[in-house]
Amino acid sequence: MTNTADVIVIGSGIIGSSTAYELSKRGKKVIVLEKYSNVGDGASSRNGAGVRLSGRVAPESWLASKAIKDIWPTLHEELDADLEYHKPGSLVLAHSEAQIKACMGTIEKNNLADVESRLIDGKEAREICPYLSDYVEKAVWCAEDGYANPMRTTLAYYRAARKLGVRYITGENVVSLEKFRGRVRRVVTEAGNVYEGEQVVLAAGFNSRRIAKTVGIWIPFLKRVDECLITEIQPAMFDTRISCADGNFYGHQTRHGSFIFGGNTNLERYEECYDDKPMNTNKQTSDKCRIIGQFVPALKDVKVVRHWAGWLDSMVDRLPIIQEMDEVPGLILACGFSGHGFAIGPAVGVVVSQIAMGEAPSVDISSLNYDRFKPSGC
Ligand SMILES: Cc1cc2nc3c(=O)[nH]c(=O)nc-3n(C[C@H](O)[C@H](O)[C@H](O)COP(=O)(O)OP(=O)(O)OC[C@H]3O[C@@H](n4cnc5c(N)ncnc54)[C@H](O)[C@@H]3O)c2cc1C
Repeated sequence: MTNTADVIVIGSGIIGSSTAYELSKRGKKVIVLEKYSNVGDGASSRNGAGVRLSGRVAPESWLASKAIKDIWPTLHEELDADLEYHKPGSLVLAHSEAQIKACMGTIEKNNLADVESRLIDGKEAREICPYLSDYVEKAVWCAEDGYANPMRTTLAYYRAARKLGVRYITGENVVSLEKFRGRVRRVVTEAGNVYEGEQVVLAAGFNSRRIAKTVGIWIPFLKRVDECLITEIQPAMFDTRISCADGNFYGHQTRHGSFIFGGNTNLERYEECYDDKPMNTNKQTSDKCRIIGQFVPALKDVKVVRHWAGWLDSMVDRLPIIQEMDEVPGLILACGFSGHGFAIGPAVGVVVSQIAMGEAPSVDISSLNYDRFKPSGC
């Protein structure tokens, strides 16, 4: 087998695999290179499952809108897999003045992005979700939000892409890119293997930074830890997605009865860790549970059966870069999703494939370009 394809995709998360799938649907020969022996074992399989439209700033919300309105509702048919996608709406909960202020910020963002939502009082929130306590003073209700199963979705893209002929090569740690006649051409791995493509899509999460540097592109993001937990199975209680206005927790009851919660209580988010292996830290679980118990007392004594962690590629402005680089023609960056990439992943796959096909993206992503970091006047 040759190591040549039209497009080499680096990273087998939801961004790499949805891109590979969309490209192969359009007749491109694609190779996906994955560092680890498991496909999609980065953030894409480890996230908190949120598929929300609310609370996003405009360019990202357009991608979310495309994903949630046009793709997620029928994605299970397209990928021929049960993705457990459900859109029951969400409540962003507030108790303190600061949290109520954060709710107002969410409404403001939603208004700017044309997303319908409204501020409701605790009583109305409890009518929507009777398990909420009197601790809830205010909430933002948005009917557009939901969730899906991250692992099923990521693997469904992988399987669908494979069916269309995409070649996945695991255990290939990409260490550098090389140019030929001014364009990106060669992808070099730690094992000394070289893969050649007309285009390279860099979708390697936080490692994209190290790889892009080898062709002189500096991506301003930090590697950050986030954790999730899952509870023992409970009888069906409620299906609304709930979250705390300051981000301390977000989650829902899954179809089989467990609750899954993500969120960040700001304990050791920027933990020093030089090893990028998939991991399972437990710094935030007890803190998160304390807060969840205040908002949903019925969950106070429910046992946590598992917790895990994942890495985020947290961009300085918390927005991704999706662009073919002027400085390195052929190199398309699709990284820096800053903890928001699962929900928009299906739409990102579409727009990245459009960029690779030389077409104008069907969603306006012009403000997600790299140029926003260049000094003004450049
Ligand atoms: C705990 C947690 C909770 C989250 N909750 C949500 C949520 O509720 N909703 C939401 O929308 N988003 C959420 N996110 C964010 C979301 O999961 C990510 O933004 C999204 O999965 C990014 O996808 P990706 O394909 O870019 O990255 P990844 O899934 O991390 O994929 C990158 C892949 O590249 C591979 N790779 C890395 N380096 C190399 C290399 N050198 N060579 C080859 N391959 C390499 C990695 O092994 C990995 O498989 C959460 C993230 C975490 C960690």
